Amino acid sequence: MENRTVNITPEQIGQQYTFMMSVRAKTDSFSEENGRRPKAHVLTFGCQQNEADSEYIAGMAFKMGYELADNPEEAELIVVNTCAVREHAELKALSITGQFKHLKKKKPDLKIGICGCMVTQEHRKDDVKNKYPYVDFLFGTNMLWRFPEILLESFSRKKRLFYFDHESANIWEGLPVARESGFKAWISVMYGCNNFCSYCVVPYVRGRERSRQPEAIIEQIRELSKQGYKEFTLLGQNVNSYGKDLSIDYDFSDLLTDICKIEGDFWVRFMTSHPKDASEKLIDTMAREEKIVKHLHLPFQAGNDRVLKLMNRKYDSKGYFELVSYAKEKMPNVGLTSDVIVGFPTETDEEFEDTLEMLRKVEFDSVYSFIYSPRKDTPAASMEGQVPDEAKKRRFAKLLEVQNGITKDLNSEYVGKTIKILIEGKSKTDDNKYTGRNDKNRLVHIDGDESLVGKFCNVKIDRADTFAMYGTVIE
Ligand code: SAH
Ligand code: SF4
Repeated sequence: MENRTVNITPEQIGQQYTFMMSVRAKTDSFSEENGRRPKAHVLTFGCQQNEADSEYIAGMAFKMGYELADNPEEAELIVVNTCAVREHAELKALSITGQFKHLKKKKPDLKIGICGCMVTQEHRKDDVKNKYPYVDFLFGTNMLWRFPEILLESFSRKKRLFYFDHESANIWEGLPVARESGFKAWISVMYGCNNFCSYCVVPYVRGRERSRQPEAIIEQIRELSKQGYKEFTLLGQNVNSYGKDLSIDYDFSDLLTDICKIEGDFWVRFMTSHPKDASEKLIDTMAREEKIVKHLHLPFQAGNDRVLKLMNRKYDSKGYFELVSYAKEKMPNVGLTSDVIVGFPTETDEEFEDTLEMLRKVEFDSVYSFIYSPRKDTPAASMEGQVPDEAKKRRFAKLLEVQNGITKDLNSEYVGKTIKILIEGKSKTDDNKYTGRNDKNRLVHIDGDESLVGKFCNVKIDRADTFAMYGTVIE
């Protein structure tokens, strides 16, 4: 995508509402004929940005008269929102889309759409065109706001539709949203990325950085806080670039400060911070504002300076460690997490040791570790010296082993202490338990009931393992 931001006007969004009403007329006739509303299933791969986007797709589908369904078998409309960050995510999305072929056979009126990062790449668009003939429509990340128009057109024209535009990336406001949670909300504050880390496909599929207006973000959070929302996670590929493209002197720390002035009892989280841009001002703001959780997700990717340079990350291990030390000094209790890539082209076993060294020095609460996956057209994919799978897997296992030990030790330090957690719902691993997270995003299982969901509770920690802590609600 090129460097052209298009502000979608309120009139253009208004037009989409008109299209939503036209689809609504069709879903109304479906209801009359079938005695029930048609159902829509939205399947999401990838990061929180995709989850946030899917909530808008679901919101628009709901507005168009669909009921939302968890099960694709029940649906009259399926939308697959894809990820392109690693090959694994792409293959999974393609394989699941493949399985929808038999649903279409059983139900020829079923509409199947595919969108998101994977299909914003030319070669994947062609794959869908040529190998998945039962997919009715495809739209790129920059076309999300036109989903009602695309669906309507798909009803009225029998042709398959491919909405794809490499020229522009846009900013819009005011589409309907169906949030998965009644107390936790994703809030995208900016879209796109300008960093071009040499391994990463995001800048190609999400376009250049562009920020939403602060007033729009603040108003949205104020409204959700009034509705009782308890946690806002501000999203951007590099939130510390927020505001750079707006013609006002206002940065991400200013935005955080203004959000914290909003009335209500809530936590503010944010991700992701790029170490080259995370400033002392940001850390000072975190330390000062009670509503901002003391959790910093600061991906270092690799501990070796030669590898970092090849990755085009624009910081070195010393600079990274200084930043972390500053955060620890200002917030002695800060929880740190990171993303790490193992097996970047030319990385040696010795250089990988520097990554382990960084884990031990910083003592992260947890890390998201990834085996390097070559991405088409990114510089790293054509570098000489791709690391063999065997070495990548070995390093990955070693990294998990080292980090699991650190996480377990950190979790054990909580035993006997009382901490505040936000209860999220039933545990996914233990039917009898409920699950919450503390401000550092650590998982805590408790004995509880539905009445606690969406509430802050004080919990005494009884025991801990690598993946979670177990506690008793005190109040
Ligand atoms: N904007 C965020 C991350 C977006 S992608 C940031 O800069 O931190 C999420 C994570 O996926 C990255 O941090 C990186 O660790 C991983 N990742 C990205 N491209 C990858 C690739 N080609 N192979 C393996 N992991 C990758
Ligand atoms: Fe990808 Fe780097 Fe941008 Fe993150 S900062 S999205 S890793 S290019």
